[in-house]
This record gives sequence, structure tokens and C-alpha cells, in this order.
Amino acid sequence: TWTAVDAYAMPHSHPSSRPNTAALENALLASKAAGLPDISASPAQAKFMALTCRMLSVTHALEVGTLGGYSAIWLASENPQLHLVTVEYDPHHAEVARKNIEFAGLTDRIEVIEGAGVDVLAKLKEEVLAGKRERFSFTFIDADKENNWNYFDMAADMSKPNTPICVDNVVRGGKLVDFSNQDSRILGAREVIEKAGKDPRVDSVVIQTVGEKSYDGCLWAVLN
Ligand code: SAM
Repeated sequence: TWTAVDAYAMPHSHPSSRPNTAALENALLASKAAGLPDISASPAQAKFMALTCRMLSVTHALEVGTLGGYSAIWLASENPQLHLVTVEYDPHHAEVARKNIEFAGLTDRIEVIEGAGVDVLAKLKEEVLAGKRERFSFTFIDADKENNWNYFDMAADMSKPNTPICVDNVVRGGKLVDFSNQDSRILGAREVIEKAGKDPRVDSVVIQTVGEKSYDGCLWAVLN
């Protein structure tokens, strides 16, 4: 039923006549053809984040975990004012993403930085704190879940007040609360939820989601 509701509602809320349809379809098809895993955000989730950026007139956004650029293309194509920095560890994923972003005509507004997220964010933070880069006003964390907290911690230091930070896949079909489950991705989800809750820099909430990508959820935090 969750999948059927997405299949019904998404084409009504985002008809295929929209200008970014071809770019988004191409990103999914080309990523599949290049052997990338089918783990991008769902269309509804990606559009919701893009609309969030629009509501806040976000000009500088950060993403950790590019894959084939699907969520990146959503964010930038729905927001002509938005510049996105997206970080990807796997050189093949980064190469596919760059091609998909070029097809979408968004190369000038999406910067794909290749490297391990922890190292890249540490360098970005130095640049932001030195005034060489703008502070971010939206962050999407969607990479190796073990580093969720490290990404969150650095993103918080690089963000403007009232900036949202969204951390994907923290519910994982409810495994979050199976405390016998010590999978490192679940531990990464618990760590970021628990630490964000005690962090005076932010206010946070976990929103559970269902849909074509099954039962999961995001941690949403807003900088004070
Ligand atoms: N945000 C993408 C979307 O919705 O279209 C999906 C990202 S996918 C879930 C996770 C990505 O994070 C993969 O492409 C993976 O190679 C990348 N990744 C894994 N470990 C990483 C790391 N240490 N640093 C940066 N990226 C990493």
C-alpha cells in the first residue's frame, strides 16, 4: 500500500511535464546502467527536501553521500538560487554523478567533491571558519551511517542559525529500537539521535516515513 500511494500521489504532485523530469529520470536510469545500487532517496523525500530549501530560500547546501546525484539534482533543479556541495567517497559514483549533473545542466551549481566525508568536511569547515566559503543553510547526511555523528557535528559548526540538518535512514524498519541489534549502521543512528538531543547547538526530532523505499525515517535538526 505504501508503494501504491507513492505511485499514485507522486505523479500528481510532480507531473512528468515538469522541467526537471528528464534529468531526474536520466539520473536513475544512468546510475542503474552504471551498476550503482538502488539506494537513492525516494522521489517524495527528495522533493520534500527541495521544497524545504525553497521555503527557506537556501543558497548554500551541503550533502554527504552523492551516489549518482539523484537527490542533488532534485535540490538544485527545484531551487535556482541554490549552490550545493556534495561529497562522495567512491570515484565511480562521483563520475556517474558528474555526468548526470551535466545532463541536468547543473554543473555550475553542484560541486561534487571526491573523498572520505570526514576528511572533506574537516577541510570545508576550515574554509568556512576562515571565511573562504559561505556557511551552509541546509545539510543532508546520507553516507556511511557509522559517521553520522561526525558529519552532523561538523555540519552544525558550518551552518547558519535556523539551518535544518537532515540525517537519512535512522529508523531502518524499526531496527533502531531492537537493542539486541548492534549493526554498526544502527549504532550510528542511535549515536546521532542521542547526541543531537543533548547538543545545545540544535533542536531535533525523528520523523518516521513509509513509502516505496519501505519503512525508515530521518532525524531533522535545526540550528539554534
Ligand atoms: N544522497 C543520494 C541520493 O539520495 O541520491 C544517495 C546516497 S547513498 C545512500 C550513499 C553514498 O555515500 C554512496 O554513494 C556511498 O559511496 C557514499 N559513501 C559511503 N561512505 C562514504 C564516505 N566515507 N564518505 C563519503 N561518501 C561515502
